[in-house]
Amino acid sequence: MYEATDELRPVGFGIGIAPNGMQALDQLDVADAVEERGVAVDRIELRTKGGQLLMPMDFRTPVDRHGLDHIMVAVHRADLQSVLRNQMSPDRLQLGMECVGVDAKQPAIQFADGSEKTPDLVIGADGVNSIIRKNISPSSRSRYAGEVVYRGLVDATPLTDITQIGAEFWGRGVRFGYFPVDDERVYWFASVVAKSPDIAPEATSAKLAEQYRNFTDPVPNLIAATDDDTIIQTPLTDLPLLDHWTNSCVTLLGDAAHAMTPNLAQGSAQAMEDAVVLAESIGTHGATHRALSAYETRRKDRAETILRQSRIQGRLAQVEYPILAKIRNTAFRHTPSLLLQKQTESMIAVDF
Ligand SMILES: Cc1cc2nc3c(=O)[nH]c(=O)nc-3n(C[C@H](O)[C@H](O)[C@H](O)COP(=O)(O)OP(=O)(O)OC[C@H]3O[C@@H](n4cnc5c(N)ncnc54)[C@H](O)[C@@H]3O)c2cc1C
Repeated sequence: MYEATDELRPVGFGIGIAPNGMQALDQLDVADAVEERGVAVDRIELRTKGGQLLMPMDFRTPVDRHGLDHIMVAVHRADLQSVLRNQMSPDRLQLGMECVGVDAKQPAIQFADGSEKTPDLVIGADGVNSIIRKNISPSSRSRYAGEVVYRGLVDATPLTDITQIGAEFWGRGVRFGYFPVDDERVYWFASVVAKSPDIAPEATSAKLAEQYRNFTDPVPNLIAATDDDTIIQTPLTDLPLLDHWTNSCVTLLGDAAHAMTPNLAQGSAQAMEDAVVLAESIGTHGATHRALSAYETRRKDRAETILRQSRIQGRLAQVEYPILAKIRNTAFRHTPSLLLQKQTESMIAVDF
């Protein structure tokens, strides 16, 4: 594994790993370790900015019905990274190796330091702005999804109104969500609709407090408890659907193939599913083009369906007109719980 970063630092905030992602981690024998470091989340409650319940996203019932061993787990990204790193032998990871190009024919990978490697297969897991994708789909670019997201992490021990379940509060063009990542810390994310990322509010707790002043507790408390220099601001993007993920002996995995907005908390789970299916396919067909092609056939439709669903969910969340927001909220409140469970089930059901 070649990684551009020189040093693995404990950066980043929380991440919610959906039950299907946990199943994939189970295949790597690390699901229990991840769960120990994080917090099991039975459900995420979608509420209005005033706190009225719109829709509970229940994971427990579908997980039990499918006989899965793990529910959604919220964990600090650094803890997830350290569990994964402990599982692999250190000599498998080479830091400071920035890929600058790939030649699918050999295949060969070129690095920024001038070196070149000629492996049997190349798996481009280099994220939404993938260099390796240029070899497979030269014109594809990530697209701005119309929202900027702010993320923070706070010590929640002094806050008394934090529940162990995740929550998301939707206003008009603004929303705020949080979940605990361990006994002490709570991760929050706040998104604001903006025609372009340059006009989004500054990433300070004062600006965000203004933006979310009408939101119910604990939203203002979480913002007030956050240091300005720890807030990260990110424009939300996703990828248009690609024609192919594979060219000869080069393929794509995770965000490089199907970066999606985080509305359904499925980005990492889909990357983890890719990894398990790709490993199975290489196990069956060897390090061959056939293995990559079989992997793509098994994974592409499912990942892209979830990418599309995530974008639709984002559009619903971004509604700004009062009348449309009212219609949306009423529809959510009256969606039968059986239908919601069916949707969740289709997302968490994996074929391994
Ligand atoms: C605001 C936000 C919140 C999110 N929340 C969730 C959530 O709660 N749950 C969830 O499941 N998903 C969430 N996601 C999505 C999730 O973070 C991604 O889907 C996931 O990180 C994808 O993993 P990846 O390994 O494919 O890509 P990345 O995590 O982007 O990793 C790519 C790696 O490749 C390296 N790299 C890049 N270019 C090169 C190069 N040229 N040479 C060598 N190395 C390179 C990078 O340094 C990096 O280490 C969220 C995303 C955002 C933006």
